[in-house]
Amino acid sequence: MVRPKKHLGQHFLKDANIARKITACLDATFTTVCEIGPGTGILTQSLLERENLSELTLIEIDTESVEYLNNHFSDARLRVLEADFLKSNLQGLFPDGTALIGNFPYNISSQIFFKVLENRNRIPEVVGMIQKEVAERIAAPPGSKTYGILSVLLQSWYDIEYCFTVNETVFFPPPKVKSAVIRLRRNETVTLDCDEKLFFKVVKAAFGQRRKTLRNALKVLLGHIDFDHPLLGRRAEQLSVTDFVTLTRLFG
Ligand code: SAH
Repeated sequence: MVRPKKHLGQHFLKDANIARKITACLDATFTTVCEIGPGTGILTQSLLERENLSELTLIEIDTESVEYLNNHFSDARLRVLEADFLKSNLQGLFPDGTALIGNFPYNISSQIFFKVLENRNRIPEVVGMIQKEVAERIAAPPGSKTYGILSVLLQSWYDIEYCFTVNETVFFPPPKVKSAVIRLRRNETVTLDCDEKLFFKVVKAAFGQRRKTLRNALKVLLGHIDFDHPLLGRRAEQLSVTDFVTLTRLFG
C-alpha cells in the first residue's frame, strides 16, 4: 500500500469501472500514450489492456509510487519515469508526439494545461480527470462567467469535451471537490492569424482585469490606446477566440 501524500495531490481512484470509463475516452487508435501521475496504477492497468498500445510512459514524481509500479507491472511496452511532469522534456521523451492521460494532481492541473499548450503540436489528445470547476471553466463558451484564460487558449488549439462528472466517494482519500473527466482534441488550427506570443499576453492581460473594458484592461500591457475599435469597448469574457485574434492584430 502506498500511503496517500496530500502535498502531491494524491487521491487514488478505487473504482476499476470508472478507471475503464476514463481510459475509454482516449481515442483507441493511439499507440503512444503518456500517463501523468499513475500513483498505484489503476489507470495504467486499464491502459495496458488496449490492443493498439505499443508504448506507455508513466511520469510519476513520488518515489514510493514508482517503486510500487515497478514491483507490480512488468510489460515490455511500459517505461516508468520518476520525474516531475512539469519539468519533463516532452520533445526529448516523445520525438513523434504522444497522447496524454491521467487522474491529474489537482493542485497543478492548470500548469499541466499550460505545458500542453507549449507542446500543442506534439500532443494530439488529452484525457484528464480534474476538479469539476476547472473542467467547466476550460469547456466554457464565450459569454459565460467561468470563461477565462485557459478556456480561450485551449479552445484556440483544441476541441474540448466535458465527458462526465465523478463523485468524491470513488477516491481514497476523497477530495473536497467534485471531479470531472475532460477531453481535448487538437483542432485543425496550425497557426493563429496573428502574433501568437502577443496573443497569449493579450488574453492574459484582458482577463487579468476581466470587469474592465478591454481598452482599460490592456493598458497594463500596451499603455494608452489612442484609436477606436468596437472590440475595445467590450470585456474579455465576451470575446471569442476569433475576436481575440482580431484584437491582437490591432497591436502587432
Ligand atoms: N492515477 C492515480 C493517482 C492520481 S493522484 C489514480 O487515479 O489512482 C495524482 C498522482 O500524481 C499522484 O500519484 C502524485 O504522486 C502524482 N504527482 C503529483 N505531482 C506530480 C508531478 N509534478 N509530476 C508527476 N506526477 C505527479
